[in-house]
This record gives sequence, structure tokens and C-alpha cells, in this order.
Amino acid sequence: MARTPQIIDDALGAVGNTPLVRLDRIAKEEGLQCNLLGKVEYMSAGGSVKDRIAKRMVEEAEREGKLIPGQSVVIEPTSGNTDKGYSVIITLPNKMSLEKEAALRALGAEVVRTPTEAAWDSPESHIGVANRLQREIPGGIILDQYRNINNPLAHEYTTGPEIIEAVISTPSTASRLSSGKVDALVAGAGTGGTITGLSRAIKKKHNKDSIILGVDPKGSILAYPDDLNIEGSGDPYIVEGIGYDFIPDVLSRDTEDVNEWLKTSDEEAFDAVRLLMRHEGLLVGGSSGSALSGALRWLRSEKGRSIAQTKGANVVVLLPDGIRNYMSKPWFLKMALEVEPTPLARRIADVLKTP
Ligand code: PMP
Repeated sequence: MARTPQIIDDALGAVGNTPLVRLDRIAKEEGLQCNLLGKVEYMSAGGSVKDRIAKRMVEEAEREGKLIPGQSVVIEPTSGNTDKGYSVIITLPNKMSLEKEAALRALGAEVVRTPTEAAWDSPESHIGVANRLQREIPGGIILDQYRNINNPLAHEYTTGPEIIEAVISTPSTASRLSSGKVDALVAGAGTGGTITGLSRAIKKKHNKDSIILGVDPKGSILAYPDDLNIEGSGDPYIVEGIGYDFIPDVLSRDTEDVNEWLKTSDEEAFDAVRLLMRHEGLLVGGSSGSALSGALRWLRSEKGRSIAQTKGANVVVLLPDGIRNYMSKPWFLKMALEVEPTPLARRIADVLKTP
């Protein structure tokens, strides 16, 4: 529903309130009867689901007096999507895109690159380097998205309620049936703040029977039970923002919160990014593809089939960021540019050949 346009005070006012978009063309191609819905987080001011936690962690720290404008230096180990205002130092593993570094530097942040392969608890990792800088730089403070309760709370209080509100307030009509509730939700996990907070919002306040599905890349160890993580454990993967080599405190691996986990490969993630671009016109990043590919695999499986084939059931897929962050990555350039010429491209070549 269109909101009345209003002047907002600053860019922070444009964090969140992202659209929930029908993925009807993908649903049709997959033979789904349920509604497949994408929560499009790249529409947030900073282009990422992580805007929400950056805002909340900083504002709560200000309220508690832990952050002092003009004095504090905010230091954060991140995959590069979690930043706002202040003097900021970001420690960023080498695998994370140049676009993220460029955007952070353009906003005035210092960026320190760290080796991707460093174990999380080694002094060289993005976490180890952030800790060292905090010890040595006066005013240095790490808000610590891996442990900060305001990370999952940002999603419990904003992302979750937005999804619930959109589903509740969209009427069920003959051509667009709706159960009026979130029947299943799929999201990837990095810190786990998104999936944990969304689960709490949905199960505690909306539909306790909703099925919450977590997506974790092959090579990471976040999925539960642990034996899901054995195959390819420790292998590198290209998708950014999801998966870790340790279990962050803010991630709930309780099956009451996250009912089931799906492991995804880079290849299936990038195929799903292509589907979202080609069929739905949504310019999403790699982890959005991971979430969609996990969702589609589950909907095709024995367990997911009944929801997949129920008219009006609502299945929400969280799409964390946009392709803007990955335009120079080989996986994207290959997808966009290394394609067979279409009949139309051949026709254009023919037309332009003749003088
Ligand atoms: N996708 C991207 C692109 C991200 O940057 C992140 C955050 N690391 C996630 C997904 C996962 O979100 P969360 O940390 O809340 O699990």
C-alpha cells in the first residue's frame, strides 16, 4: 500500500521498511501453489539488511552512554554491510568485494583487510585485528554484532513485524489467496541475528507453527545438526555474508527457533540470483540466491511439499542485499556477460553489418 510521501530527517529514516514482493514468475516456473514472497532488503538506505542492526546497535550504545560523539571510534569486524556514521574502522576479510570497501571508504570509514583463511580466533582474523585495534586506539569500541543482543532485536522489532504486517494487511482475494499468516520463512545466517530475530518475531507474536528454515553455505559450520556440516567442512566458498567457522552467540541453533537447516553451494546460489534477476527484475546479491535456492530445494522436498502445494500459504524468503555490492566479482560478470548470443542479439548484429 502506498504511504503518503513525507520529508524524512536523514538517511537513517530510510533504513528498513523494505517491500515484500511476490516472486510469481519463479513460483509458476517451479509449479508452486503457495505464495513465494521476497523481502527485498537492498531497498534500505545502505543497501543491506545490516543497516537495521548498525542503526540499532549504535543508537542503543549512545543511549547507554557507551558511545560518545566526537570521542568514540567504532571498530567492527564485518563482511562489510554493517556501518553507520562516527569515526569508523572496519576490519574486512580479503574475500569481501571491492565495492564494499569503496562504499565504506566513500562514507569516510577506514578499512583494514585481513586474510580470509585466518581462523576467527587467530590474531590475524578480522575479529583478532579489530580486538587489537580496540586495545590500542583511544576511544575504540567494538559494538560486536556477534554478541550484541541488539542485532537479533533489530530484526525482532523491525524486519519481522514488517513481514507480519505486510502479510496480515494484504487481503485474500479469489485471484490472490492468502492464509493471512507467515507459513514458512527462509533466511541465511552469518551472525545469525536475522534468522534468530525473525524466528522470535514470528513464532512468539504471530504464528508459533510457522516453519523457520536457516541457510548455511557448504564449508561453514552454522547448520544444525552438526553432521550437516561434515561434507566440505572448511572448504572456501565465494558467497559473502553468510557462514562462519565459529558459532556466534546471537545465533540460535535451537530447533524450536530454526526448525531445519539447508546447506547450499555457490553454484546453486548464483543460479538463483540469475532467476531473481531475469524473472523478477530484482538486482540481488549472492546470499539472496543462497536463500532462494535453499527455499526452492525445501519446497520440492517431502517435508516442504504440503506447504508448496497449498494455495494461499505464504513462504517468505529474506533477500539480504543487492548486486551493487558485487558488480566486479567474476561470478557476476560471467553471469551477465558470458552468455550465448540471443536470437535478438544476432538480429542486431545482422542489421548493423549492412551499411
Ligand atoms: N547476507 C549478507 C550479504 C550479509 O552481509 C549478511 C550479514 N553478515 C547476511 C546475509 C547474514 O545476516 P546475519 O548476520 O543477520 O545472519
